[in-house]
Amino acid sequence: MGLVSAKEMLEKARKEGYGIGQFNINNLEWTKAILTAAEEAKSPVILGVSEGASRYMTGYDTVVGMVKGMMKNLDITVPVSIHLDHGSFEGAKECIEAGFGSVMFDGSHYPIDENVQKTKEIIKYAKEKGISVEAEVGSIGGEEDGVVGEGEVADPKECKRIADLGVTMLAAGIGNIHGKYPKNWKGLRLDVLKEIQDITGQMPLVLHGGTGIPTEMVQEAITLGVSKINVNTELQLVFAEETRKYIEAKKDLEGKGYDPRKLLLPGYKAIIAKVKEKMEIFGSVNKA
Ligand SMILES: [Zn+2]
Repeated sequence: MGLVSAKEMLEKARKEGYGIGQFNINNLEWTKAILTAAEEAKSPVILGVSEGASRYMTGYDTVVGMVKGMMKNLDITVPVSIHLDHGSFEGAKECIEAGFGSVMFDGSHYPIDENVQKTKEIIKYAKEKGISVEAEVGSIGGEEDGVVGEGEVADPKECKRIADLGVTMLAAGIGNIHGKYPKNWKGLRLDVLKEIQDITGQMPLVLHGGTGIPTEMVQEAITLGVSKINVNTELQLVFAEETRKYIEAKKDLEGKGYDPRKLLLPGYKAIIAKVKEKMEIFGSVNKA
């Protein structure tokens, strides 16, 4: 199947009532773990790349080259889409040039008219190359790459305006936040989600900030039209936890335990397990 846009896989998920995970990558280990999990689970997968993570990996070309090479060397047969997460206007254009299959243009911090204008322009660039586009209405709370958002609940009418521009999928703030959820979090506004789905028709919706939302709530959101769920923080937490255990058990001091291939192995395995667990919850296993 190889590298694809996210359009077909999301439309199929929307129709059949399951969700596809977007798992953000940070480096080679992350990418290898997520691709391995997707292949073993026979699930389509979206590799999320933020502009910050991309800079960390030296740039968009490196990301595309690494994923392409890995898919060939690992014999990955499930559909995989490389997707820019929370892209700026310039970032989205650069990713389209670099060979990403999908981009998110996050214009949620602009006034709605400017968001509409810029989203329209990105769609024009992307369409020529068959690339899927995610837009956002109503900012999502929490911190992403140093940008802290309060989070707001999207106006369904504004969602409709953006959806009608021809976006592939739409992220709408419904009380979800990036990072860990506070103890007094009130939960997702599933009533607003339903309104958004009713007004936008069959548009696949995107749930950001997937870490820490109760499983039943995620599954209910999927029945209400969420087709893509973004998971980032949760993988970072399990990776850090397993790496800390390794160091605290002083395994790096035993034999050649300091070898990075050994040091990073427990965290790598934890990512595979967590990704598969999420794919089960989202219902995307055996849907490739
Ligand atoms: Zn997000």
